[in-house]
Amino acid sequence: MATVVRCLSWFTQRGLLAVVCLAGCHAEAPAPAALNADIFLSPDTALIRGLVAPSTTLDEMLRAHGLSADAVGRLIDAARAVFDPRRMRAAQPFLIERTHDGGLRQFEYEIDAASFLRVTPVALGAEALRAEVLPIPRTLEEAAAAGMVDDATPSLFQAMDAAGENAELTMALARIFAGEVDFNTEVQPGDRFALAFERFVRPDRPPTYGAITAAEFINDGRLIRAVRFTPPGGRPDYFDEQGRSLRRFLLRSPLKFEPRITSRFSLRRLHPVLHTTRAHRGVDYGAPTGAPVVAAAGGTVVSATYDSANGRMVRLRHAGGYESYYLHLSAFAAGIRRGARIDQGQAIGRVGSTGLATGPHLHYGLQKNGRWVDPLREHRNMPPGDPVPSTAMEAFRAARDGALERLSSAHASAMSAVVTTSN
Ligand SMILES: [Zn+2]
Repeated sequence: MATVVRCLSWFTQRGLLAVVCLAGCHAEAPAPAALNADIFLSPDTALIRGLVAPSTTLDEMLRAHGLSADAVGRLIDAARAVFDPRRMRAAQPFLIERTHDGGLRQFEYEIDAASFLRVTPVALGAEALRAEVLPIPRTLEEAAAAGMVDDATPSLFQAMDAAGENAELTMALARIFAGEVDFNTEVQPGDRFALAFERFVRPDRPPTYGAITAAEFINDGRLIRAVRFTPPGGRPDYFDEQGRSLRRFLLRSPLKFEPRITSRFSLRRLHPVLHTTRAHRGVDYGAPTGAPVVAAAGGTVVSATYDSANGRMVRLRHAGGYESYYLHLSAFAAGIRRGARIDQGQAIGRVGSTGLATGPHLHYGLQKNGRWVDPLREHRNMPPGDPVPSTAMEAFRAARDGALERLSSAHASAMSAVVTTSN
């Protein structure tokens, strides 16, 4: 088991310096998923299906699968009219059908959950190619799921898996309640959830998720509910049953999931070795290298820097005199540079152990008007976002009542599933 990661961190009067982290936690980055391609041979063509390998270009991938240099050149020229090949992403599905001498019959690449690129000859055997971006055929259905965190499924991920859904939905659920529950530290055995959501069903692949329309989470006996609603002229957001916003100015933590607090904020912490008192002006979260770190609040990037003490560090400025600091990162997210606008929950980097840290963790610091404050306490004291306006309450109540009905039927069918399996 991992030992405690902690950061014996203190700051000089002028700001952030001298962060010493003693750690014994070693988390391995997950091995990349196998990206094998299946090759089907027929008398005159080869059909290759696979997932795009990491750090490969479209050009390299097509050549590697036997397309002639000439066909590759023409394919990329044609594709450029509708899709920038540099935007090709690892792990996205593709399909190549080619003749044995390397000529193209068809090429498909899945751009995202909703659209794909197709390149084909304008006529059978023709040299000229046609490229199109087409919608992926899929149907939208209303779905619901419910589950419980217990001995058999001790994490929310496992409980969701047992409910027949996947990690993507778990992450979306955690984001909705991120202002209310710290999913890194506060999930308990006996916690229950139910959610109603949109699911896009495709004949050829696992389904993908649309919006969660309603959710409830019972955390340590406390019931929290969220209903998705779009106030007139506003953006869709989540509200409790009374129409109060679930959005907080600060997220409960800048990590999406599963790490734990290893050292809390303290202005007077007894140093375990020196027996002197030193402040720890932030919160340490033990987390595996590479775990995404997100902005605790919307704002602007003040700096994204590297130094030998703090390692890679992002500093953000927010409204109300707040600044937040994220230390020891292994990488910055794309687009994180001085002056960039950042939304709450947007990825800013990845957990690491750069600077004076001997194990992967995130040191998260918060200043208000230039003074260090406890991020966890500030979060609790923050007022929520705007409630549903009174003029929209009638529409909200109708949406809410429909949503709660779907949640209670999700609970009921989860219960009957339990009864069935135990018989
Ligand atoms: Zn620290």
